[in-house]
Amino acid sequence: MVSLREAVVKGLAPDRGLYMPETIGQLSSSFYDGITGMSLTTLAQHVARSFFGEDIPQKELDAIVGDTLNFDIPLVKVEEGIYVLELFHGPTFAFKDVGARFMARMLSYFVKKKQQEDVKVLVATSGDTGSAVANGFLGVEGIQVFVLYPSGKVSDIQEAQFTTLGQNIVALEIDGTFDDCQALVKAAFMDEELNIQLNLTSANSINVARFLPQSFYYFHAYAQLLKQAQAPPEKVVFSVPSGNLGNLTAGLFAKRMGLPADRFIAAHNRNDVFRDYLQTGKYSPRASVQTVANAMDVGAPSNFDRILDLYDHDHQAIANDISAYRYDDGEIKKTIRSVHQNINYLLDPHGACAYLALKEGLQTGETGIFLATAHPAKFRETVEECLGEQIRIPEALEAFMQRKKETHTLSNDFNLFKKALINLS
Ligand SMILES: *Cc1c(COP(=O)(O)O)cnc(C)c1O
Repeated sequence: MVSLREAVVKGLAPDRGLYMPETIGQLSSSFYDGITGMSLTTLAQHVARSFFGEDIPQKELDAIVGDTLNFDIPLVKVEEGIYVLELFHGPTFAFKDVGARFMARMLSYFVKKKQQEDVKVLVATSGDTGSAVANGFLGVEGIQVFVLYPSGKVSDIQEAQFTTLGQNIVALEIDGTFDDCQALVKAAFMDEELNIQLNLTSANSINVARFLPQSFYYFHAYAQLLKQAQAPPEKVVFSVPSGNLGNLTAGLFAKRMGLPADRFIAAHNRNDVFRDYLQTGKYSPRASVQTVANAMDVGAPSNFDRILDLYDHDHQAIANDISAYRYDDGEIKKTIRSVHQNINYLLDPHGACAYLALKEGLQTGETGIFLATAHPAKFRETVEECLGEQIRIPEALEAFMQRKKETHTLSNDFNLFKKALINLS
């Protein structure tokens, strides 16, 4: 057992295992009685206290939550029995803003309290994680962020979101692939000399401070549903666009805390190792393939072990709570087009998978909520190709494109990367 501070600062345990909360607190029945009258922030503060309340004074924890959630998370009805939870109204227009902002504020709390020296955050990105982490940590004292990304392999909008920030954010443009970037980050964590000189941590969804806050909005979705539905919904099903399974795992935690969610659907693109596991009981990670829903192009989901742990490795219990569906690029694109045409709702490729999975999996008597994890404008090229017309780009997203890009270009070489880290720290 380790302290919360250690779990957050280290990210991964020394044996490369994932940290789990020692116990999962239940929320009281009075919490559920009052849930429809609570703001998103108040509700999230209650949930956060049951995870982190013993490690951080309530006033400080409430402030961390309040600072994290400075944007709306609306629940919108799209058709009879189907709702969408729009998680893309944060600063980088994707759901990762929630976890990244929360983690930044929690790390900063430990640094300010002098429980922790300055920290360097390393993050390898294929696009979306880098922008959420960079913006989440922007200007946060005591923390410097290095974003490694594959040169020429992220979209212009994504690149602008982490290369134009300055301050404590350093962008490293690697002449290589995303896997090369990830290998450099892993090598840095293994390098003794670097670890003596710098406090290195990772900001991907293995970090408890990044993935647990994602449970907040499942409670919020349920509260909004109670408010909006004419009759109280009996069976609520969440459909979650899934890659590394962090978002889904956070939903399973919410259920374990007493959220009346009946079951979950994991929505995949062609990268569907988790679906195979649910069907066969065998887990066989494999290399990822590229799709239009590229934030879910994951062949070895890093939070899979957390799901196993949560269910004591009981495959049947896991398969009772979760079912999974997978869609190829053609199906995803067709759906973006038809949903826009028929019900005038604009999906991004990830949300489109979750919508499709709900349409396929929802049974009579169930109410479905699918999570829209990114703003369609973040995947402008795909979406415009589907619609055959231009879409509106939010001003705040456009604004990133106007700013000056600053990166350090590096060849894919660990010693050069190490030198750069030390020089730029
Ligand atoms: C990261 C991401 C996902 C996948 O979430 P996981 O927690 O890794 O399963 C889905 N959609 C978008 C837009 C993302 O950025």
